[in-house]
Formats: sequence, structure tokens, C-alpha cells
Amino acid sequence: MTATPAPFTADDYRARMERAARAAADAGLAGVLIAPGPDLVWLTGYAPPAATERLTLLVLAAGQDPVLVVPTLEAPDAEKAAGAPALTLRDWTDGKDPYATTAPLLDTSGLPHSLNGVGSAPIGVSDNAWALHLLGLQKALPGTSYVSLTEGLPMLRAVKDAAELERLAAAGEAADATYEEILKVSFAGRRESEIAGDLADLLRRFGHSQVDFTVVGSGPNGASPHHEAGERVIEHGDTIVLDFGGLRHGYGSDTSRTVHVGEPSAEELRVHDVVREAQEAAVQAVRPGIACQDVDRVARAHITEAGYGDRFIHRTGHGIGVTTHEPPYMIEGEEQPLVPGMCFSVEPGIYLPGRFGVRIEDIVTVTEDGGRRLNNTSREMAVVH
Ligand code: ZN
Ligand code: ZN
Ligand code: ZN
Repeated sequence: MTATPAPFTADDYRARMERAARAAADAGLAGVLIAPGPDLVWLTGYAPPAATERLTLLVLAAGQDPVLVVPTLEAPDAEKAAGAPALTLRDWTDGKDPYATTAPLLDTSGLPHSLNGVGSAPIGVSDNAWALHLLGLQKALPGTSYVSLTEGLPMLRAVKDAAELERLAAAGEAADATYEEILKVSFAGRRESEIAGDLADLLRRFGHSQVDFTVVGSGPNGASPHHEAGERVIEHGDTIVLDFGGLRHGYGSDTSRTVHVGEPSAEELRVHDVVREAQEAAVQAVRPGIACQDVDRVARAHITEAGYGDRFIHRTGHGIGVTTHEPPYMIEGEEQPLVPGMCFSVEPGIYLPGRFGVRIEDIVTVTEDGGRRLNNTSREMAVVH
């Protein structure tokens, strides 16, 4: 397993905050408001102890130093964050109005107006900001308008730098090691939940600090892509979808393989082949400049030609970074072009209700001239016992 990477520095966080402020200005936003969550971790290295009703908010705007508004009692913790030297802390104490503290930072009167000339430019706000806080700000700043960051700045974290790619590759290696080990355990006669427990233990053993999901969809349960793991006892003859991942060194893993207890039937092998070929074709299609939706179209076309188009019931992929699901999405309608450094899953599947499902998933990163998989275990249907 790879060594622990050097931690991100204040300079790394400063560069990210500057990039975000510039991207916001380019996107016509007056600024961005970042609530506790993955965006705040990525921009500052700061994760408040728990989601709290007390306002914590990073304010970024081009030409303005980053300001982190924090409750006074949490200021000492915020000061310890790796990105703290790159920003100004503005604390507010219980009994004071946090929105009055924040409002002057959002004075958009001097900023360019939106393209249609009506009203001031909108402010981007984290998807997961509490409604309580957004409503408080709207009241303190009448006339301001807001867009979610997914809408206003979807590619904020999408392009990974070398240090991030190193972490994502390390997370992928750990997920691959987990898969190699799970092939050795007994499946028949054990519950899905027991296999899921094995997967979680292995992910942690191989360096994950957080396990986000451990899907074990056996037999008919595999036909439900969102089935996690239950009390069904696995039988000889089952096809089993395994899909697992979490965070290692703060970055995500997510891989799926479909295994079979004993020798698969001709039909099971055929369905698996169709998914494997669709996944291969979609990975081969990855290169800078093609649209996200093209990755989906390539996988879908192959599955449709084979006659299973209506049984591929989800998008082909999602971005991955400091979370295991984020933009960009490989989905019809997403015209965002691929850019070197983007990382996302390619995970087509076929789901036959009442019978079985097949999914194969790798994380892929866009290179200068194509794509590179961060998961490299065999994509043949493994026979387990
Ligand atoms: Zn079978
Ligand atoms: Zn997955
Ligand atoms: Zn996935």
C-alpha cells in the first residue's frame, strides 16, 4: 500500500480559494457562500465538529480576502484548520445576529449586474447550507438572489490536481485490494449483511478512514441498484453485485464487480459480457473534449443494441473527490466537456427484476489523450464459493 501523502498546506488552500473566487466571477456570480460540508473541507481543511444551528460560513468573492464567519466558541478550532492562515476569521457570539455580521461581506452594490441587467448578480451557496441561514441572509440583505453551487459552479471541485489524483489512486488501490480479498471468503450460506461487514472491515484494513457503502445484492436483490445489504442468505447459483467505497486520506473510492456462486449460466455470462463490453467501450471513449453525456451514450448504445436498453435504469457515472458522489455526472443532457484531471465512475448495469443484476464500475481519470482507470481488478465474472 502507498505511503501517507503529505498533508495539504495553507498555500494549497489559498490557491483553491482564489480559484473558486475567480471561477465564481467568471460564472457571473457576485460571490460564493460555503457552509460546513465537503466544499468547506476542500477549500479550507476545516470541518466543524458537527452540523450546527449556529452559522458557520466561508465568504468568497473576487478581489476580496476570504472570510470565515464562525461562532466564537468554535473559533479556536477553526484557527487550527490547515487553511486558516489563508483566510480571515470573523466570529460572532451567542445573542448577536450572525446575519448582521455576514451582511457587510456580501455587499454586492459595487459588483457588475447580471447579464439581463435585472437585479444584482446572484450569490452561489453550498447545496447543503441550512435553509435557516439562507433565509436569515435574505432577510438581512433584501434584493439579493442565490443559486446552488451545483447549478452556479458545478465544476468547482471537478478537476483534480496531482496531489488529489495521488489520493484518489491510493483509494482505488485499497478498494482493489478489498475486492481481491473478498473473493476468498465464503458466500454460500452467509447473509448479505455478513459479506457487507467483511467489505467494511477490509476497506478499513486497507487504509480507509470512512466506509460510505457496501452493497451486496444477491440473486433478485441485485436487480435493485439501491439495495444495500440485507438478511437474505446467499445461495449456490446466485449472481451477486458488490459495490463498495469510502474515503482514504480524505479522498473517495467506489468500485463494483459482479460475482457468481459456482459456475454461471450461459444467460448470466451473456448479460455480464454485455455490461463488461459497454463499460470497456465507455472507458475507451473517455478523452478531453467529449461531453459527459457522450460517456453515457456509448455505454447505453451498447446495452441497447444487445436488447437490454430498458434494463439499464441509472446514469453511467458520477464524479468523485472529497465525496464519493459529486459532479460531473455522466448523464444524458450533461454537455460539460471532459477536462484532464476530472475523476468519475463508469458503471453501467443491467437489472432483471426478480432475477439478478450486473454492474461493473471503475473510477476513471481524464488524461491529456484519453482516460486512465484507478481500479484495475479483473472485470471477468469471478466464481466464488
Ligand atoms: Zn446462476
Ligand atoms: Zn459504486
Ligand atoms: Zn459509483
